[in-house]
Order: sequence, then C-alpha cells, then structure tokens
Amino acid sequence: MNTFDLIKTLTETPGPSGFEGDIAAIIHEIWEPLVDELHQDHVGSLVGIKYGRGNLPEGGKRPRILIAAHMDELGLMVTNILDNNGHGFLRVVNLGGVDVRQLANQRVMVHGRRNIPGLLGALPASMLPADKQDNAYDYETLVVDTGLPFAELSKQVSIGDAISFHQPLRQLNGSNITGKALDNRVSVAAVTIALENLQHQPHLWDVIVLASCQEETRLLGAATTAYRYHPELAIAVDVTFGQGPSTSDPNSFILGDGPTISHAPDVHPGVVAGLKKAAESLEMKTQNEYAARGGGTDAYTMQIAHSGIPTGIVGIPCVICTPWSRASTPRTWSEAADSSPNTLANSMAKPLVNCKKN
Ligand SMILES: [Zn+2]
Repeated sequence: MNTFDLIKTLTETPGPSGFEGDIAAIIHEIWEPLVDELHQDHVGSLVGIKYGRGNLPEGGKRPRILIAAHMDELGLMVTNILDNNGHGFLRVVNLGGVDVRQLANQRVMVHGRRNIPGLLGALPASMLPADKQDNAYDYETLVVDTGLPFAELSKQVSIGDAISFHQPLRQLNGSNITGKALDNRVSVAAVTIALENLQHQPHLWDVIVLASCQEETRLLGAATTAYRYHPELAIAVDVTFGQGPSTSDPNSFILGDGPTISHAPDVHPGVVAGLKKAAESLEMKTQNEYAARGGGTDAYTMQIAHSGIPTGIVGIPCVICTPWSRASTPRTWSEAADSSPNTLANSMAKPLVNCKKN
C-alpha cells in the first residue's frame, strides 16, 4: 500500500476516543504481518512487539523501546434525541478537544445500531436574536440532522453513542493532504512504515509499537502499556501545530521541513540528544519544539510509569489541528517511503537504542 492509500485507509476509518474498535481492527490487519506478537489489551489499545535479535551481554535482558501513536480521534457523543414535529435531531457534546466554532455544516457519521450519516447544523444567523448573530454556535444550539423521523432515529440511536467526523482524505496541491483524524493517524502511518523498514534491518532491542486508545480524553492507553511493559525508552509520535496565517512562530512549525523534536519537562534530555543524533546521521531536517510545561501527548503518562521512563516526543506538523486538518511531507506521498516517516523509523530503530538510561 502506498503512503497516501495507507493514510487514507487510516483516516477514513472511524475511531472516536473511547470507541476505537473499527480503527483497531484496521491497524491490526496492517500490523499483523510486521510484528511477532499483536494483541488488543484490556482497555482497547493495540500493542505489537517485534522481537530483537542477536547476542545479549551475559545475563542480559533484551532492552525494549515503546513507540506510541494514539489511534483515537476527536469526535462527538449523543446527549439527547429531540422530537421536533416528528423529525428527529441529536444534541451532542465533544469527545476530546473539539473546536466547537468549526462544527457547523460538518458531515458526520452517527454510530448507533447502524452507521447513519448526518450533518451538523443550527438555525441560521438571521433567525437568531440580534445579540447572538455574531457568536459561534455552541453545543446548546448545534444539532445533528440525519433526515430520519424521531420514531426511527430513537430506535437506531441511543444517548452515549459516538459520532465521528466524515471527511475523505484529499490530495491538495503539491505534497499537501487534507482530511479528518490526521491527528493522529499520520503518526500511526509513520509507525507502520517504521515497522516495514525493520523487516530488513536487524535490531537488538525489542520494539513495542502501540496504537493507544483514549489519548484525546485521558491519555489512557499509553499509561497502561508503559506500566505493563516498563520499557527502557518511550517515544510518543503525534501531530504538532503547523505554520499558517496568524500562527506565532515559536509555537508552529513549517510543513515539509521535517518532524519536530520536543524540549519539554516530559521528555528526557538523553532521548532528545539521541533523536537529534539519529536525524543528523540520516541528514534529515528536524525542528525544535519548546514547551515550558509538559502534557498533551502520550509522553506525559509514559514518563511517569513505574519509577519513570526516559521519553521523547516527535511531532508531525499539521495545519489547523481540528477534526479536519492539512499535513505535508517534504516530498510527494508516493516518495514518502524514503522520506521523513521512514528515516524517523530508522532513527528510532538504531541510534536511539544506544541512548543510555539515566
Ligand atoms: Zn494527537
């Protein structure tokens, strides 16, 4: 599968936070031939292990690196089913950090007893009181319209059901793509390409790959997996803010200029140094991301598992990190197998394993 098709498959499969069954099944299918062991754990994360090979120091234990990319996406949850003269509408609330200002007129899929397409809408501004006409819509005014009468809708949908955004992945000009759930399926794609490369590359360490669940709502899957496997090193791969109009330079990064390496309280300086060294050895461009406070990615919970695990964060710049975003690679998607995700994979597989735990 080429990289565009891989990302298309990954992004168009629904997986709202806490409802990752469909996307976990797809990633299971993709990862199965690439790892020695694969299972979905008690909380819903997908964990694969590719065993290391080669001689260990006497009495030594094979070290392990955990590479985490969350598979859940921002979504919505049904909070009420409204009867309006026999027509059914759904009230919703956010699953994860959804920007409510961008919801109006978005296509969605309601995951009830069956999947039902719908549209998020609200009264037009001209029908609102004058003092509300310039305001963004909120969850008290937005509804999902599926076109179904109330009687049928209430049979098919229950309060608590999940709703995913419904956007196809599209190629824009150049090497840009746009679609929903790029946060964080582009990182799942990068980890997949890393696994493909490892098929031809001997490695001493066990490589544990994690498609974590419920990152958007509670950083859950990375916490439980890091605790279970207690790896020597952990890397979170996630999207970060891309440069666009009105973005401030220190907090946003150039699309196509390489992934970011985070400098933050929830990363270990030795891992940062290892990532940089790896990138340099591959002549790969990277960008420095600085944060004075930790949190916001799987690194936050991996770092504090057990007595602490040295962690790093690698970011893929993505413009407008909302349910629908734009991302880029340095070259075209068809060349991406030799581009950043690949070299990133190599950098994880080789020089990082020499980064001493301390
Ligand atoms: Zn993310």
